[in-house]
Amino acid sequence: YVKVSQLAKRFGDVTVFEEIDFTIEKGEFITLLGPSGCGKSTLLRSLAGLNQVDAGEIWVDQENITKTAPQSREIGMVFQSYALFPNMTVLDNVAFGLKMKGINKTEARAEAKRMIDLVELDGKEQFYPRELSGGQRQRVALARALVVKPRILLLDEPLSALDAKIRKSLRQQILTIQRELNLTTVFVTHDQEEAMLLSDRIFLMNQGAIVQQGKPEDIYTKPANEFVASFMGHYN
Ligand code: ATP
Ligand code: MG
Repeated sequence: YVKVSQLAKRFGDVTVFEEIDFTIEKGEFITLLGPSGCGKSTLLRSLAGLNQVDAGEIWVDQENITKTAPQSREIGMVFQSYALFPNMTVLDNVAFGLKMKGINKTEARAEAKRMIDLVELDGKEQFYPRELSGGQRQRVALARALVVKPRILLLDEPLSALDAKIRKSLRQQILTIQRELNLTTVFVTHDQEEAMLLSDRIFLMNQGAIVQQGKPEDIYTKPANEFVASFMGHYN
């Protein structure tokens, strides 16, 4: 599980969020939903260790990781734009994290190949990122995040650069893999329809606070306040 308590992050005088509290069960699919600028990416980056926090704690499976280096957190992350190595093949991009962990080349490549198959990119192993479509690149990014068997998978709007059709098929694919691996997942989006379809629970954020946490149907039918009602009201 993941437990976050009283988490706060400031940039200079600007408080991005404070008093963030939540618990996530093993295997849960959580969507962090909220308008642009409310602090979703900063919160996700804080979980990954890419931002230091100013207060509060992050616990994963009885371990306090608040000050742990990012590479030691066993967290996989996929960003909005493809952060792939342009000069490496698909296979080497996916195997990269394993090589960093000191796993030998043959074994790393075999495991990378399994992940490439899982995201249905069989046959693209020797392609370079520039030779792939946007959706294929995001699947490489997903395979690269999954290959190290992360304790938590963090997805920051991984579908937002894709067209509607690819987006729908890829989000279904993400959900299938998440279920198959029983992966604790935090997915960021500002698309309430996506959140309704994918999540076990939604954490709705506004201006640096989680204003409501709950099952999609509860958030939709029992909004805690005006903001939630109007934000979810756009869903139809
Ligand atoms: P979007 O949906 O547009 O991606 P978001 O919810 O992910 O928005 P964040 O990127 O977390 O929002 O940003 C939240 C706030 O923190 C914004 O006001 C932003 O200007 C500020 N912020 C984020 N990163 C930094 C930084 N490195 N330095 C200063 N301010 C920052
Ligand atoms: Mg963001």
